[in-house]
Amino acid sequence: MARTPVADGRRGRGRGGHAPVARGSGGTPAAALDAAAIDALYGLEPVYEPDAPASGSGPTEFVVVECPYCWEPFETQVDLTAGTTSYVEDCQVCCQPIELSIDVGDDGMLDGVRPARMD
Ligand SMILES: [Zn+2]
Repeated sequence: MARTPVADGRRGRGRGGHAPVARGSGGTPAAALDAAAIDALYGLEPVYEPDAPASGSGPTEFVVVECPYCWEPFETQVDLTAGTTSYVEDCQVCCQPIELSIDVGDDGMLDGVRPARMD
């Protein structure tokens, strides 16, 4: 019982049988994935909306106060974000230190500015 290796003889004819490369070339989902990725990129792109306040003045306000020393009116800028507070500012006319009491209401609007002498 001697078996002839027939398979060896058939190899030379050039028919490859099944080539595994044919499987991958069918329908690759790469294109669909790319489209989805692009959609995701565009969807996730942050939309820039300039939401600057319409007033543009900011949380500060210019007020005119009278100096308690020389009684000259001068303009000063108060910061409404600090709420009701007080600070010292030199008079722009006589250069004496004035204690400015800033009153800010509950609605964030300026209630009033009271200058006071420090001597
Ligand atoms: Zn003054």
